[in-house]
Amino acid sequence: MSTPARGNAAIRYRLIPARPEAHLYEVECTVPFPDPAGQRFALPAWIPGSYLVRDFAKHVVSIRARSGRREVPLVKLDKNTWQAAPCEGPLTVSMEVYAWDLSVRGAHLDTNHAFFNGTSVFLRVIGQETRRCEVELVRPAGRRYAAWRVATAMRRKQARPYDFGLYQAADYDELIDHPVEMGTFTLASFKARGVPHDIAITGRHEADMERLCRDLKRLCEWHIDFWGGAPMDRYVFLVTAVGEGYGGLEHRASTALLCSRDDLPRPGLKGTDEAYRTFLGLCSHEYFHTWNVKRIKPAAFVPYDLDRENHTTLLWAFEGFTSYYDDLALARAGLITPAEYLEILGRSITQLQRTGGRLKQTLAESSWDAWIKFYRPDENTPNAVVSYYGKGSLVALCLDSLIRERTRGRKSLDDVMRLLWRRYGQTGAGVPEDGVERAAEEVAGVRLRAFFDRALRATAELPLKERLAALGVDCLFRPAESDSDRGGKPSAKPASALAARPTLGVKLANAAGAAKLQHVYDGGAAQAAGLSAGDVIVAIDGLRVTARNFEARVGRYKPGDRVRIHAFRRDELLVFDAVLQAPAADTCVLAFRPRRSALQRAWLDERL
Ligand code: ZN
Repeated sequence: MSTPARGNAAIRYRLIPARPEAHLYEVECTVPFPDPAGQRFALPAWIPGSYLVRDFAKHVVSIRARSGRREVPLVKLDKNTWQAAPCEGPLTVSMEVYAWDLSVRGAHLDTNHAFFNGTSVFLRVIGQETRRCEVELVRPAGRRYAAWRVATAMRRKQARPYDFGLYQAADYDELIDHPVEMGTFTLASFKARGVPHDIAITGRHEADMERLCRDLKRLCEWHIDFWGGAPMDRYVFLVTAVGEGYGGLEHRASTALLCSRDDLPRPGLKGTDEAYRTFLGLCSHEYFHTWNVKRIKPAAFVPYDLDRENHTTLLWAFEGFTSYYDDLALARAGLITPAEYLEILGRSITQLQRTGGRLKQTLAESSWDAWIKFYRPDENTPNAVVSYYGKGSLVALCLDSLIRERTRGRKSLDDVMRLLWRRYGQTGAGVPEDGVERAAEEVAGVRLRAFFDRALRATAELPLKERLAALGVDCLFRPAESDSDRGGKPSAKPASALAARPTLGVKLANAAGAAKLQHVYDGGAAQAAGLSAGDVIVAIDGLRVTARNFEARVGRYKPGDRVRIHAFRRDELLVFDAVLQAPAADTCVLAFRPRRSALQRAWLDERL
């Protein structure tokens, strides 16, 4: 046959990083059989995994349609949907898309490299989402781009490995789940349990690629063994290394990561320093998502509604549990020591205890409102919002401990995850809002309603001390020893010195050297005195303060002392009298009990 069968014809996309210097992609979408009533097209309003309406259509600079040589009128129906006039196929829509967002969620293009997520550039052909897709990636013209290569988990059709050319996806859902990097990245490969893995690093760096591959292989094999096999036949880490940055987004067979180049392992690095630990933790997090959220999904995401917010109360399980396992996997895989793991856990507890919002918002609410709260933080966020990542990971810890204790070590949260995998991940059915709780009760063999009500639907404190004790870990709280004390470690200072350190109840931002208040904590001394976020403090008791000397200046006083504060607000100099407070014992230090129990060994050293 000269024309493809109607049922089998692919939607054809063609993408060129046409004008890197102007950050413009040219993208075509050709529909072989457009809707006779007038084909509609839409660009997603958000990207799965990042729960914020981003309205990618705002970056469409121009758009037009044609059928053969004939121009076809396009009308815009709403913020992200277009409709072509009725016409015979094939119908081609061409767009220019502006790409200057160096994040894992958008698209970026300059003369050094190109990165994009399909959600930024590929139109959804409404009503034909299940059609096969083909993508032709075209090398930009000019010698400058002659050495560019392509890294993506998208399946090749005619393209040679790492080259421009023809790629394919089974449907639109898959098409937008394979981000693409084009440029002169560093490339290294390894196999984990037989599955080929690539790591492509964009940006200047001096990473020890051999070390990186060795450690990632170990990490990925831990994850694959945990779940009982890999659901993907290849995997790609797309890394952008910058001066300062941190972020990741999960996909079905790849992840896009943004990291500080200093977080990558330098040649000769002994052990795993804190920076590299951060990077490995990020890799571990996104890799765990390959199962938990990319395949085990909330029913609310099956399918995704790409036009609007998709609400679920379950992000504590998808992001929180993933945050629990990301660092735990590093410990279990032997990439960090148990003591290092406790330090990370202690910091995570510290962070929660310093978030007043934990007493205002429940985890279920935090998840539901992620779109308008967690993803849109402002000056009041610490007072009003609790993180479903941080608190969710500690709920996982408590639940893990509870199940291990109740079943005398026969079962654990690992079994809950594997039950979710069999029941939802492998079947494609969405997890109902109570599905994780039911799976946990099934595994534990007891009712857990009271635990979940308290952990998810109330703002009561989590039973952390009790749950850690069951795992053979002591949990102590002390005041912070400095503004940069993130917890997790004992302090060398005596308890009396820590208790004598006064607090104003603020988080400072360094605004070109000035002491600007980023957050004013509920119930703190600054709030009681009338100070607000955004105020620039210029003097305490008549002496100038800056971002640099602020902590030392406040540190000269004692809790209960009254200080006079001069601050600018809207360019007006205002005076406040504040009574400094005693520090809260909100800094957590964890320690193993001298005799390691079988439960604890199973928790940290689990060999599968
Ligand atoms: Zn995540």
